[in-house]
Amino acid sequence: MKIKFLGGCNEVGRSAVLVDDKIIIDYGMRPSDPPEIPLNSEHISPKSVIISHAHLDHSGMVPSLMSRAEVPEVYMTPVTRDLTKLLGRDTIKVGRDQGFSFFSEADIQKLDENTHAVAYGERHALDGTDYEFELHNAGHIPGSASVHLRKESEDISLLYTGDIKLGPSRLMESASPADLPASDILFIESTYYGRDHRDRKDLEREFVDSVKETLNSGGNAIVPCFAVGRTQEIVMILHSYGLTPYVDGMGLSVFRIFKNYPSSLKDAKALNDAFGDAQFVNSKRRKKAISEPSVIVTTAGMLNGGPVLYYLKKKHEDPRSKVLLTGYQIEGTNGRMLVEEGCVEADGDIVKVNAGVEQYDFSAHAGDSELKEIVSRFCRNGTEVIFTVHGDHTEEFATWTKDKFGCEAIAPNNGEEFIIE
Ligand SMILES: [Zn+2]
Repeated sequence: MKIKFLGGCNEVGRSAVLVDDKIIIDYGMRPSDPPEIPLNSEHISPKSVIISHAHLDHSGMVPSLMSRAEVPEVYMTPVTRDLTKLLGRDTIKVGRDQGFSFFSEADIQKLDENTHAVAYGERHALDGTDYEFELHNAGHIPGSASVHLRKESEDISLLYTGDIKLGPSRLMESASPADLPASDILFIESTYYGRDHRDRKDLEREFVDSVKETLNSGGNAIVPCFAVGRTQEIVMILHSYGLTPYVDGMGLSVFRIFKNYPSSLKDAKALNDAFGDAQFVNSKRRKKAISEPSVIVTTAGMLNGGPVLYYLKKKHEDPRSKVLLTGYQIEGTNGRMLVEEGCVEADGDIVKVNAGVEQYDFSAHAGDSELKEIVSRFCRNGTEVIFTVHGDHTEEFATWTKDKFGCEAIAPNNGEEFIIE
């Protein structure tokens, strides 16, 4: 089996793996300005594409493959399909503003026609090849999957975790490593290698206390969130503590997609109830949302564009207000700049933020001990080659794995190729 890494190595962004020159697992983009896309994008012509989940860094560039002479077949869960189309249309819009274009509305239509909706646990043959695959719940966001791919003629298999989450969240059932099929090769994400998550209940309480304190002091609590997954999780948390947020940005459209697939959710009723009570904001109602003490859940999660910049520009000088970040801030993003330097860039201006800034780890990724648990399970079940990808500490993770289990563990570089027999 030939493996080529086209992105997502020693970084979080543009995940893409090419198998035997004809199968692609994930085809993402790093939503920086300008966006970074997988390597060799002009020269690959896959026959099949399997997508783990609908975050831009895993699915953002799939529509671009639809303009190839030979259009590949695409496989993903129905939730991932609907979200990928939504995010694709948003990318076209963002591109118009920022001056880039990777695909068109026609490509998104074509993606719809060429997508096979796949349920968890179903074994599928890839047309015209001797590969078969199945998807398993990855617990990361609704519709997210780990991919098990097997090449029959060589009797060799791989498991690609994608972004995977063990442990509780309000939105999702946890992934279960015990249910993942054994494999010869493991591709494991490394986002939180070296860091464990705090107790979720304590974290929720601390977050809600801080929001309440902001409201009591007369300020606005601005909560930047990813549209997919985090917005819904945070609205559910606030609702369970009796708080009614304003929701701004694409999180509402994402909620509407989630609602269509209740079986992909842990508690569809709790999500519906939370959104039933929330107040939705569009550009006309933003002024009202900050005219009184309020909590505003808004995109973008890493402050790279989106309505959050409106709120930051209005409230950055107000010491009673707070920005409550809800996740990891990738290097090079506005969010990282806010954490490290106390300022953000909004419409070309650098804005110093005097409002409070706090960071909460509502991560949808496995923490350090959970990543190690997955590796340990796979090694015990016969995995011989492990690739650590998707993180800033892939090298350390590979070294730890090698020392602990004596197997071949590699932190690949983008563009690197491996033959595994
Ligand atoms: Zn993700």
